Amino acid sequence: MAAVKITDLPVIERENSISIKGKQKKQLKCDTDSVAGCVSQRACVYCGARVVLNPITDAVHLVHGPIGCASYTWDIRGSLSSGSELYRNSFSTDLKENDVIFGGEKKLARAIDELVAKYRPKLVFVYSTCIVGVIGDDLQAVCRAAAQRHGIEVIPVESSGFIGNKAAGYRAACDALLSLIKPADSLIGQIPKSINYLGDFNLAGEAWIIKKYLNRIGVTVNVVFTGDSNYESLKNTARASLNIIQCAGSMIYLAQKMKELYDIPFINVSFLGLQDTADSLRKIAAFFNDQEIMRRAEELIKNEEAEVKPVIADYSDKFVGKKAAVYVGGGFKAVSLIKQFAEIGIEVVMIGTQTGRKEEYKSINDLVNDGTVILDDANPSELEKFMLEKGAHLLVGGVKERPLAYKLGMAFIDHNHDRKHPLSGFVGAVNFAREVYSTLCSPIWTLVNRG
Ligand code: SF4
Repeated sequence: MAAVKITDLPVIERENSISIKGKQKKQLKCDTDSVAGCVSQRACVYCGARVVLNPITDAVHLVHGPIGCASYTWDIRGSLSSGSELYRNSFSTDLKENDVIFGGEKKLARAIDELVAKYRPKLVFVYSTCIVGVIGDDLQAVCRAAAQRHGIEVIPVESSGFIGNKAAGYRAACDALLSLIKPADSLIGQIPKSINYLGDFNLAGEAWIIKKYLNRIGVTVNVVFTGDSNYESLKNTARASLNIIQCAGSMIYLAQKMKELYDIPFINVSFLGLQDTADSLRKIAAFFNDQEIMRRAEELIKNEEAEVKPVIADYSDKFVGKKAAVYVGGGFKAVSLIKQFAEIGIEVVMIGTQTGRKEEYKSINDLVNDGTVILDDANPSELEKFMLEKGAHLLVGGVKERPLAYKLGMAFIDHNHDRKHPLSGFVGAVNFAREVYSTLCSPIWTLVNRG
């Protein structure tokens, strides 16, 4: 097998966004705009904002742009609701050539009026898209006027393309959330031993699993950002005494702002994999420094591990010698996946993210073995090149990576927002091992010639 040579890259400007553990000492370039013409796997600014806000169940999500941008609907996402189903709709102003020439503000105002009359929401998010950034519609003014007309909150989400990459969309969503939260002083820190859970979008009910664990150890979940949240619950955000962050890429900015504005401290957690789930429960218990919470956390970890470890061990026996490639959205997930693969005896030989941050790439570099390829904001040709060179048997990614894996005759695991099965917590660790088994050990791969 040929050695990896970064100089073989088709686009030489990408050289600094790729490193090989043990070979280069330089800091990986990340959190920058994509190189033009590289067909980045990264989603757009609007998509970044929509990922964060869409799980708010009783909001109207109105996309100000051409109809194509509104193809992002609940039905390609897995976030679940215990109440309103309004969020499953994707409304659009359906901008056409005439609107591009003469402006789309009047059309937007009419769309808001129509939606408010029909659904009577308390909250409307209006998303800006690429073309709105080009024609310069004044979203703030239209939303402000609509809010006054209807006596509800109409919040502009400044997510037009060209303002940056997907991470800029996360920030736009967090700014929209901050303008919604605005608490009265009397609410701040009102509920002791309570947390806000940031960066869980309740895919396949994952936030409910974690909520149950936290309730069992004596910690109350005030609101989840944003899985299964709604207008009322988000308004009560500032009552919590701690913010825990799972998806740091999307939520660290919001957590930092809440610390600055309301003095709510935050800690990073991850509920992916056995080790990270146990470590996170212990971390939360330690934060509250309460003997009873710590005792209950240890009891929960012991009981859950006793149940799932033998099941996971049975699967792991079948993975000897297998290698995985990972390409996911956020850095926290990449870090957890390295540990989770180690738990089931699989080595990660290539790993990358769309929006990983410097400190996350440092953790990735510390965890992987020498020779592992680490890459930021990759494109399909790079993923193909490195997966083949490193001999990966399995790719973990999202909807855009799935066809690539199958074309290469490689097993695939969906770890994105479109999946319908939970991968969080102890139960999620079993689901993960089972899914690895079902794809990696499928007899189909014996019939595929990988050339
Ligand atoms: S906002 Fe721009 S990049 Fe994103 S889906 Fe719409 S047109 Fe495409």
